[in-house]
Amino acid sequence: MATIFSRIVAGEIPSYKVAEDEQFYAFLDINPLAKGHTLVIPKREVDYIFDLDDEEIAAMQVFAKKVACAIKRAFPCIKVGQAVLGLEVPHAHIHLVPMQSERDMLFTNPKLQLTPEEFTEIANKIKNEIAK
Ligand code: 5GP
Repeated sequence: MATIFSRIVAGEIPSYKVAEDEQFYAFLDINPLAKGHTLVIPKREVDYIFDLDDEEIAAMQVFAKKVACAIKRAFPCIKVGQAVLGLEVPHAHIHLVPMQSERDMLFTNPKLQLTPEEFTEIANKIKNEIAK
């Protein structure tokens, strides 16, 4: 059975997409730690990120870098933090989170409750920066 993230890539489940190419897809985390919290995934369904091929994980990181730079321009922060957990969804993903402090990377923090309009606005801001 396809993972929830494969179903997002296929358009069966809606997402707030920020970027896509042949291999990778980036979209807003639905339970964000901060405005701009984005997930980067390979379209190929692999659970554990370190099971990706060398070329694929390298290309995923380059793709994530482009997204992270756009997030930082859209949501000024000290740095964009990167984390890999994968304990909830068995489809490899990188979390990108704008950080104002180390505490912003604590996944036990309460998540932001955002409206669809806010998610759309956030995704558009990041997309606009990627397009620059
Ligand atoms: P992890 O597997 O890294 O522990 O956590 C999975 C992340 O995916 C969580 O931060 C969760 O909010 C996010 N997530 C789970 N299901 C969905 C979904 O259907 N849509 C989106 N946009 N994010 C999801």
